[in-house]
Amino acid sequence: MCIGCGCTDDRACHGGCSWVRLDFDRCIGVCSSCWRDMARWDAGDRTISAKAHESRKSRCKCCRAPIIWFRTNGGRNMPVDAATVQQNDAVFDATRHTSHFATCQYATKYRRAR
Ligand SMILES: [Zn+2]
Ligand SMILES: [Zn+2]
Ligand SMILES: [Zn+2]
Repeated sequence: MCIGCGCTDDRACHGGCSWVRLDFDRCIGVCSSCWRDMARWDAGDRTISAKAHESRKSRCKCCRAPIIWFRTNGGRNMPVDAATVQQNDAVFDATRHTSHFATCQYATKYRRAR
């Protein structure tokens, strides 16, 4: 995820973008649309901007609750309740993040789909 705008490999910036900086281990980087954030990245600042945090929020298709998608260690995409995610969280943390699968009132639908 880009720390400037919140775009991802799956959801690039409008018009397309590429990574100019990338930290594979932490799943964050700076994309070509966010060259302004490159300077602070190079200075060691890996803080996710408020804008990036806002734009990564989406809504559950079933209950419309705010969620944020994370990729787990197993490589699966996992919807997490947005309320449990701090602005600077870049990777899924099972000790703090609540999977939306557990709280969604339509969770049975999710399970059946898998
Ligand atoms: Zn960006
Ligand atoms: Zn981008
Ligand atoms: Zn839901």
